[in-house]
Amino acid sequence: MTENEKPLNFLEQIITNDLETATTQKVITRFPPEPNGFLHIGHAKSICLNFGLAERFGGECNLRFDDTNPAKEEQAYVEAIKKDVEWLGFKWAGEVRYASSYFDTFYEWAQHLIKEGKAYVCDLNPEQAREYRGSLTEPGKASPNRERSAEESLDLLERMKNGEFDEGSKSLRAKIDMASGNINLRDPVLYRIRKQHHHQTGDKWCIYPSYDFAHGQEDAIEGVTHSICTLEFADHKPLYNWFIENLPVPNTPTQYEFGRLNLNYTVTSKRKLKQLVDEGVVDGWDDPRMPTIAGYRRRGYTPASLRKFCDMIGVTRSDGVVDVAMLEHAIRDDLDKNAARAMCVLKPLKVVLTNYPEGQTEDLSIAGSPNRDDLPARTLPFGREVFIDQEDFREEANKKFKRLVIGKRTRLRGAYVIEADEAIKNDAGDIIEVRARVIEDTVGKDPADGVKPKGVIQWVAAHKNAKFEVRLYDRLFNVEAPGAGGKDFLDDVNPNSLSVVSQALGEIGLLDAAPEQGYQFERIGYFCRDSKEQGLVFNQTIGLRDSFNKPA
Ligand code: ATP
Ligand code: MG
Repeated sequence: MTENEKPLNFLEQIITNDLETATTQKVITRFPPEPNGFLHIGHAKSICLNFGLAERFGGECNLRFDDTNPAKEEQAYVEAIKKDVEWLGFKWAGEVRYASSYFDTFYEWAQHLIKEGKAYVCDLNPEQAREYRGSLTEPGKASPNRERSAEESLDLLERMKNGEFDEGSKSLRAKIDMASGNINLRDPVLYRIRKQHHHQTGDKWCIYPSYDFAHGQEDAIEGVTHSICTLEFADHKPLYNWFIENLPVPNTPTQYEFGRLNLNYTVTSKRKLKQLVDEGVVDGWDDPRMPTIAGYRRRGYTPASLRKFCDMIGVTRSDGVVDVAMLEHAIRDDLDKNAARAMCVLKPLKVVLTNYPEGQTEDLSIAGSPNRDDLPARTLPFGREVFIDQEDFREEANKKFKRLVIGKRTRLRGAYVIEADEAIKNDAGDIIEVRARVIEDTVGKDPADGVKPKGVIQWVAAHKNAKFEVRLYDRLFNVEAPGAGGKDFLDDVNPNSLSVVSQALGEIGLLDAAPEQGYQFERIGYFCRDSKEQGLVFNQTIGLRDSFNKPA
């Protein structure tokens, strides 16, 4: 099935219908992150969805920072988020937008509600306000200030804005319904006093709008037609609609909810990811083990693989948990088709080819990848001494072991067939060298004597190679649902998620590897050069074996 033959998801159906009935002229969506952390794989789903719908229906998608809570936000996060969205391959309409650039309008709208008798300044502190709010089974109690005159509230709001009152001592609340079954409608807070410096507006404001008072109005100001959010905001919809009905907004967006992405063996909450960073469990937001877009990028995931994954999981109206093996399948599939091949030896064992003349070398040539004709051929220097992996040699072995064994033959990938004669050991009995012979005239050919080699192994020339560090990764969490059952999720961190091979050897061309560019290290897995380290370091992207069973 091609892209366009796939059945439409529920949002695509809605939009198709809105365009057909001319309810919508041009589709406008937005991706609205709060700049309080790096984006994670769940955000990738929202990005692909919002930008994808705009692309598909000839519309536009805004990138808007929902920056109403300066205490937790930073410019560095703004920059990281922009980079991630661009890297995924999406282009936002016009300039980046900020909720904070609408603060003047929100303030006027707050005054408007007060004048209409639909908002008041309340003197309850946050704790008292919580008590007054009631519960799911009990109605709330009216604030003692609920009937305060508009005049007085307007004056108090102005003075809150000017910094005359302490944080928590007053708030502006909408006057809706303290008995509503939906707690969001029990006179929600519109403005809080927060004497905070803001990354965009500096020290201009001492009061900040609540997320609820800002979010829907931002969409209305921007003319967003389809305001798409995750399911937990379904309960807020009546409140957003109340604002839209009671304010002089220029447009009326409609909210649609979809199921958020959860992945097993993974946490997708900025708060928890920040904890991993702050407590030093990982080495920053872009640690290759992190489920952040920056982490995946540094680990060698491609934008295409993340987009493919988001496409595979689809969009539904219910929450679910996706198997992380599906994400791993998406990148493996991409790299199998597209990554250049290279040879690397993680545990080097020297092989001396006793019949190959000392001092002689030659340059062999091998395809860049069996799946890509456009990649240039690689040059493989060959000489009397080569390194193979310790795992690929045994003194004796049964037939199943299709690698180098004494008295048996194996092929060095892209080079000669060799036959092993002897293992040299140190005093401790460890094998430190293998003596072997080259079978003549076997580059690209079978041996003339008809004795075929068993298997093909990777190797690296001793006289000309690249030395580097390799970082092998396992899942960051040991269990499918980190922190389930009220446990601390940090207790489920896998202590062996990183292992370092400090002295790996690779073919010489790896010296020129570009950061984040994927390679298949033959018979080992997929790797890319780290983008932060000065020296040569390769990060494992993913192993070769696929544990994901594609649905039939
Ligand atoms: P977190 O819970 O990790 O802090 P958030 O929802 O608070 O995430 P925002 O910056 O507010 O983070 O999110 C921006 C957009 O991304 C929102 O529209 C939100 O619905 C969406 N989003 C966040 N997490 C997911 C997820 N796991 N799956 C799908 N969409 C998500
Ligand atoms: Mg949020």
